[in-house]
Parts: sequence; structure tokens; C-alpha cells
Amino acid sequence: MITVVVAETRAYSLREVKEISGRLQSLVSSSSAEAYLKDFRQWLQDQGFVENSSSEIETWDGSVWVEWLDSDTGKYEEADHRVSIVLPSSFPYHAPIVISLDDPPLDRSWHLAPEPLYSLCLWNTERGWQPHFSAQRLISRIREWFINYHTDDWPENSQVPDLHRYLHKIGVFVIGEDWQPSCEANGRFTLWMPTTVESLPHFASTYPLGFSAAKQVKPEARLADPMHFRSDAYQRQIGVWFRVDEPFVPPRTLRDLLKRISDASHQSSGYAANVCKHTYGTKTESSVLHLAVGYTDVQDKVRWLFLRATLPEDNKRRRKLYWSNDDYLDQVKVKSYQTAPAGKRDLLRRSAFMSKELRTYRVIIFGIGALGSSVAMLLAKAGIGTLGLVDDDVVMPGNAMRHICGVNLTGFQKTLATSVLIKKHAPDCTTRNYTKTWDRSKLMGYLADFDLVIDATASHNFSLLLNEICIELSKPMIFVAAYRRAAVGRIIVHRHAADPCLACYEIGDAWNEESYPLIPPDPDGTFIEDGCGSVTEEAVALDVEAIANLAARTAVKVCQAKLGKSNVAIFVNEPVESVSKLLKSPGLHWFANEALPHCLVCQE
Ligand SMILES: [Zn+2]
Repeated sequence: MITVVVAETRAYSLREVKEISGRLQSLVSSSSAEAYLKDFRQWLQDQGFVENSSSEIETWDGSVWVEWLDSDTGKYEEADHRVSIVLPSSFPYHAPIVISLDDPPLDRSWHLAPEPLYSLCLWNTERGWQPHFSAQRLISRIREWFINYHTDDWPENSQVPDLHRYLHKIGVFVIGEDWQPSCEANGRFTLWMPTTVESLPHFASTYPLGFSAAKQVKPEARLADPMHFRSDAYQRQIGVWFRVDEPFVPPRTLRDLLKRISDASHQSSGYAANVCKHTYGTKTESSVLHLAVGYTDVQDKVRWLFLRATLPEDNKRRRKLYWSNDDYLDQVKVKSYQTAPAGKRDLLRRSAFMSKELRTYRVIIFGIGALGSSVAMLLAKAGIGTLGLVDDDVVMPGNAMRHICGVNLTGFQKTLATSVLIKKHAPDCTTRNYTKTWDRSKLMGYLADFDLVIDATASHNFSLLLNEICIELSKPMIFVAAYRRAAVGRIIVHRHAADPCLACYEIGDAWNEESYPLIPPDPDGTFIEDGCGSVTEEAVALDVEAIANLAARTAVKVCQAKLGKSNVAIFVNEPVESVSKLLKSPGLHWFANEALPHCLVCQE
């Protein structure tokens, strides 16, 4: 497969360019686009470019004349460069691809794809291609590229392309937090690759509720597998790494690769092959060799290129690789891994500004249902450092449509299953699971380790108990609940003596529509779950998640002390028929209420 390198984005194969771009064809054929294309082609023709009829994709061949000042001689030099301009069918939405046809080929350069394509890196992110650019502009950019090439003077904003773009990529290689190769000349490293895939039958066979339990494995152990980047369950493979002193452009065969590593390390020609021989043995039957090359790029940054050399599979006898035989090394094609660092720092990078601030906070959530599990996940993603999850329930198939846990987690404790999912998004977040209890002293024990309490139990009596304990321990708390099929959400925040507590709102005649609007019950929004007997509220996931988002947002604001005087929110997702004007108007309504002086719970 031929690979085209596009500097600002990624390497495309010609087939890929055709397939992806074909979808945009209808857009391109509008009349103004047609006029643009006509002008573009006409200008190329006027410059002596000729359409290459043998090419599958529209290609124009021609030459570009350049002149530059030679800094050594002080004289002007000139050259004519032959190029192909490839217009993918999505052009002008995708940039034209320009390939050098020079013979002999151009010297290696950071801004030129290696053989066989020799495509020019023309558009980086700073100076990206735009669909209105003219052919004239394209040619002048190509001319500029050649002048940079001849004078070896590249503009500072010409980013060095990631070498992985040069080679066909395979899979994803995850670098753990602690992978820090030393600066020696070479060494060994270990690759961990996931070999397990979660699937419904996989979990069903260890179903904790009893049926079809062929082999009893602790559910925690099963769930733990995909949680860690490195564990024994991951396939272990050994690789060899080298540090080189020179700019490095990867070749395509193992023989060239080893030679270039030896040259760039200023060692004898057999050096790299000998290191591999030493690591893998004089002959190897492993079908894949892993190599990493550390190099310093033109911006003086140390980068790592992870390479994978696959032994040819068409001829089984040749799969045994003898390091002494150059012919074999020639047949081994080198490919690259796309590296995806997954250390804590990298995972947090996209939300670091908030995560850093929230990392030290500890939030406990009571009730890990649809609402509570979504709140927990959002807080973990926001960067809360420690989450406590309290619930006794197990995931049932009927939960899947609203809960963050899907049917593959059926039968697991909601707390455990939610913790596992949280770990997959925010491995840095510590989760602690607790069983639900009405025992006062146990609850006080739970709360002791947390800074903020969120109640999403939808259990009025339990909420009142929690309210009392929070006040006794001076813990800020947030009560969140969904009403009317989650058409309306309500959040009550209590932080200190000035905020009303949940018991304050029990004194009904103290409040009115302006301060604490009543949410009338839904006459037919509930159903009895089969074989369960408990009343379940019908609700749409969209509305539940909107309320969860508001609750998580409020929790973050409480942690950051940025909520101001507001302490009750009514969130109307869908207007409901009510005497209250407010419940008829969609949106978020905040109230700043004051605690009742005669409340027996919070005002003693
Ligand atoms: Zn009160």
C-alpha cells in the first residue's frame, strides 16, 4: 500500500484519500466550486502542467522553477523541480498532495516523506491549507518549500512531523507513568498489550447471582483486568531501544533500520544487529521484533519512535530470522506504533486547569442509581480526587438505559461496577465503596473521611437522617432529586448555619412559590417493576443526565467556594402543568433562601 504523508494531519493511503473524500463530492460539485476548480486547473495548464491520464486520482505533472541565494558563494542559484500535484476527490476541502519527481531523489529532510512517495510537507497547523486557496498560491508555497530545502533554512513554525506518520501504523502502544528510559546507548524495554476483551458471555459465565456459574471467579478479579495499564493479564513482550545522536528518518526494512541506527550512533556497521542478536538470540522464531529509537529532533526535543518489525508470513521457513543473514533482514518490513502516552499527567492534560484544583477534594455520594452514578462519573472526570460510593443495589438489565453501567455489568454491585467505569476514565481518582446503612454511628464513620456529601437516594426519610448527621459533623451537603419523570430536578445545598437545611423545608407554611416552589406529584409517571414490587419512576436519560450535570457542577462550585448565596435550584427540563409559573418555564432557577430560626435541626 502506498502511503501519502500529509504534514499537518496524518499519513493517508491513496485508497483512503479516495474513500474519505468521495463523500464530499456532492459539495464540491456546486456551481461556485466548479468555477473554482475550472480556474485552478486552467492556471496549472497555463504554467505548463499536464494532467496525468494514467493516474487513478486527478494528478497534474509539471515543473517549478526556483531561485535562491547561496550563503556560501553569495551567488544566486537556480533549479527546476519536477512535481506531481495530486487533487483528491475531496479537493479543495482536502489539501492537494505534492510529490517530488526529481531524479535523483531529493536528500532526506524532516519535511519530506521518505521513499517511495517523497511528498512535501507543505501545510502545518500554523499555515494550513484552506479551500479557497488558488493554484497560484499553491505553486508559490511549493517554491517556498524548495527554497527552504536548498538553503536548509526552515521557518520556525514549520513543525517537525511526528515520524510515526511516515510509516504504516499498528495499534496503540500505551506508555505507563514509570517508563523512563535512561540516556545510555541502548537497553531493553517491555511492552504490555491488552489481550482480554470484555464481552457479555465473558461476564455471564461469572454471573454472581448463581446461574450458569461454570467457574467461580470473584467478580472483582474479573472486573479488575481491564482496569490497569500494566498487569499480569497483559501480554509481555521484550523490545530493544537505542539512543541516537543524529536526526533520524526511519527506513522501511530492518536491514536499513539497523544500519541507520549503527551510523547514527557512530558505531560499527554490525552494532545494532549485534545488540538485537544478544537480546533475541542468534536466531529468533518470534514473528515480531520491537524496537525503539530515541532521537533528538531539530527543535532539540528528545522523541521516541516505536517500531515493530514483522517477519514475513508468506513463507513459513523464512520466519526464523538469522541475524547473520542480510537477505533475511531485507525482507523484514518495519512499521511503527502510534504512541499514546497514558500517564496521569497526560490523562489530566485536557482538564488540568480544573483537575488540579479539585484533586484534594473528597466527595461521598449516597445512592448510585442513574442519577448518582452519572454524578460520580462527572465528578471523577472533572478531577475530584476521592469519591465514596454508597449503595446496596446490584445492576439489573432494566437499569442499563439510564445508568452509566450497561448490561455487561448486570449482577455486579452498582458501587463496584461504577468504580470500575470511573477507573477507566479517571485512573487517578480513588474510589471507596460502602454499603447502605441506617446506623447513625456507621454513617458518621463514612462521612468522617469526606469534605462534601451528596445525597441522590430519592429516599426522603434517609435524606432527613443524613441531613441531621451532616449538620452534627458540619459537613456541607447537596441533596439532588428528579421529579415528574425527571422533567424537573431540585438541588438543595446546605453549607453552614445560614443555608436552610432539609428539615427547614419540612416546615411547609414558611415557604412560598417565590422561595421554594412545590413540585406536584405526577399522576402516572411510575410503574411497578416485575418481580420486585418497588415503585420505579419513569424518566428519560436525557433529563436525568441534565440534572446529574447540574448536581456535579454545583458540587464543584461548593468545593471551590464559588456558589455565592444561592442554595436551592429548580431545573425545569420540560415544563409541567402546575399552579407554579416557574415550573412552566424551562431552564435553571436559583434561589437564595435563609435558614428558619425555629428549625430544630440546624438552629439549636
Ligand atoms: Zn434547618
